[in-house]
Amino acid sequence: MTFDDDYAMLIGGERVRGTATLDVVNPATEEVIAKVPDASREDLDRAIEAARGAFPGWAATPIAERKAKLMALGQAVLAQADSFMRLLTQEQGKPHAEAQGEVMGAGYWLMGAASLDLPVTVNEDSADRYSETRHVPLGVVGAISPWNFPMILAMFKVGPALLAGNTMVLKPSPFTPLTTLKFGEIAAEILPAGVLNIVTGGDDLGPWMTSHPGFDKISFTGSTATGKRVMQSAAPTLKRVTLELGGNDAAIVMPDVDVEKVAEELFWAAFRNNGQICIATKRMYVHKDVYEPLKEALVAYAKTVKVGDGAEQGTQIGPINNKQQYDRVLDLIQDAKDKGYQFLVGGEKADVPGYFIPVTILDNPPEDSRIVQEEQFGPVLPLLKFDDLEDAVRRANATEYGLGGSVWGNDEDKALEIAQRIASGTVWVNETQHLSPTAAFGGMKQSGVGVEGGVEGLLEYTNAQTIVRRKRAPVAA
Ligand code: NAD
Repeated sequence: MTFDDDYAMLIGGERVRGTATLDVVNPATEEVIAKVPDASREDLDRAIEAARGAFPGWAATPIAERKAKLMALGQAVLAQADSFMRLLTQEQGKPHAEAQGEVMGAGYWLMGAASLDLPVTVNEDSADRYSETRHVPLGVVGAISPWNFPMILAMFKVGPALLAGNTMVLKPSPFTPLTTLKFGEIAAEILPAGVLNIVTGGDDLGPWMTSHPGFDKISFTGSTATGKRVMQSAAPTLKRVTLELGGNDAAIVMPDVDVEKVAEELFWAAFRNNGQICIATKRMYVHKDVYEPLKEALVAYAKTVKVGDGAEQGTQIGPINNKQQYDRVLDLIQDAKDKGYQFLVGGEKADVPGYFIPVTILDNPPEDSRIVQEEQFGPVLPLLKFDDLEDAVRRANATEYGLGGSVWGNDEDKALEIAQRIASGTVWVNETQHLSPTAAFGGMKQSGVGVEGGVEGLLEYTNAQTIVRRKRAPVAA
């Protein structure tokens, strides 16, 4: 079964088509595959009003009921997983198997979020007084999501925000609005009207949201550059912000690693979703003792990988999602060519329709090169050689980013010791990219402000409120 091609926003439980539309392009064919509403300021005002109107009722709904709604929402996503998967491949480009993984993950994320509880801290329980701190919802949350994982990253926000008792206006990226709008159709059947509203639009809509006085919080996932604009725009009304931003994750490959065992995993750490992952390995520091064999293994494996339309059987890597990002990655490749860096594989784009870039690996480019210093967010990996672990740690940390990172080695204690010295919000040992709805995830330095996931992420959708109750009768003056 596939979804119909009627795309409408969700505002106050109603399907709203608006007056203008935006084209959505399939990045594998460059063909327009759908038109979605281009929200006006009035549409946004109405969505915020609807969310504000629904807030008191939703906040007063017992948490057990809110959990049950999130469970039902998660189950409804799983029940339609096949349709979501096809649509996700069309709008995002990722191969069916990966799209399936994202959709299932989105369903389970909602259910995982529903397993969390809001803690209550008893500060004092003495003969004189009882004092406790509880967590109350903020109000209306504006959620803004990116195009690389449109479904699951939206659920990172929907689950905890609604669980905590907030209502929401969600805006997907204009490049990937389709699955989010179809999710809205499901949500309209499960949630009370106005609890979740979905608006789609062009480049003006995000700034309208972040500056709108009707929001109490902005939860944003996207680039560091845009994150800075969001924070600035949210400041005049002191909106709370959670910012999940870019990364330039380093993998450190220790000299005792078993090359045969890790090569394939290291390849996908960098190239899964065509490198368009905030926590993709974007710089691979390899000890000189294993540099040559790992290089050979990665290049040999790269040559077996099928790049193509994600809807075709057997495709392992799809196109870049949009023209803007495609041009950016090509520019980084051109820069590497101009500087005379060594290409081990890739580098030449095929003359076919679609935003396809071949898997590209560079041999030890200089540390100050653009491909090492910038977030490429595409299928281009610099392999970097080191001979001193201290030097590898220093280079891994010499960045404004601090999102993720990984350490690979047979001596787990040593690998763990190195992992603890990486200045990033998450560091993995002998794996990458494992996230969970019950674990905090966020960036250090310019990779973000705040976290998503876990109780820590849930609390970011609340105000702490301390209630102090005197037990003894007041003493007369
Ligand atoms: P982007 O910053 O261009 O856009 C993200 C979202 O913000 C989109 O919905 C966009 O329409 C909206 N937007 C654009 N300008 C805005 C503005 N001025 N005000 C408000 N909203 C605005 O990011 P992208 O290109 O969609 O995503 C790629 C980036 O996201 C990469 O840097 C990647 O590392 C990062 N990312 C981070 C995480 C994380 O969890 N830390 C996850 C995925 C992606």
